Amino acid sequence: LAARESRQERSIVRLSEQCTFGGKDISIIAGPCSVESEEQIMQTARMVKEAGAHALRGGAFKPRTNPYAFQGMGEDGLKLLAAARAETGLAVVTEVVTPDDVELVSKYADCLQIGTRNAQNYKLLEAVGAQSKPVLYKRGMSMTIDEYLQATEYILAGGNNNVVLCERGIRTFEDHTRNTLSLSAVPELHHRTHLPVVIDPSHGTGHARLVPAMARAAVAAGCDGLAIEVHPDPEHALTDGAQSVTPAVLAEMIASVRRVAEAV
Ligand code: PEP
Ligand code: MN
Repeated sequence: LAARESRQERSIVRLSEQCTFGGKDISIIAGPCSVESEEQIMQTARMVKEAGAHALRGGAFKPRTNPYAFQGMGEDGLKLLAAARAETGLAVVTEVVTPDDVELVSKYADCLQIGTRNAQNYKLLEAVGAQSKPVLYKRGMSMTIDEYLQATEYILAGGNNNVVLCERGIRTFEDHTRNTLSLSAVPELHHRTHLPVVIDPSHGTGHARLVPAMARAAVAAGCDGLAIEVHPDPEHALTDGAQSVTPAVLAEMIASVRRVAEAV
């Protein structure tokens, strides 16, 4: 169902009136790694909206490597995301980590994110495939493109065609970055599938200083959107501060990726 040949046209996935993936415009998902407080998410939402983003991201259920680390605000975090949407009009993208929470998360979110650690959690893929909200499905950090597209079928086969693929970096021997961002995934996925492709240069590099250049490169490579971690005070972020850009950097980045998009 994901194969390019199975459809005449590229799929367009719509999160809201202003936020679509797969059309001619590039949509930007921006926001903190985690929802941390009302003040933090409302402030960030206003600032990313002002910078030109189309959707707000923020984890309420966090899949942490360390079980003693901050696990997210849970349903309280989802309520804050919904409040931020009500004020700004931004679509809300947030992660779901277990099939049991799919119904709860889909009550608040405009798009359910499947994280890299759950990319081969087939029961979770089936659960998001059995509901109607769009899915931002991140590539597993050790999945080949072929495995990624086979696993995508678990979502599509349930009847949910609104899937946005997301390259967020894979594990290699290289350690100057947190992951190795595979930008050739963009043209390769476009060659093999009709689904839209988003690049996440934040998890893809792990360093805020590398994010703007990789965002521009991703747009030059033809991606349909970007997912960017943004925090008003990255140094004090509870999660992923090192790879989070400030709202001011986001605004500059959006202006520069627009210039790239016009040029290519
Ligand atoms: C996230 O988006 O904050 C996240 C945990 O992403 P990934 O699953 O790509 O690590
Ligand atoms: Mn993160």
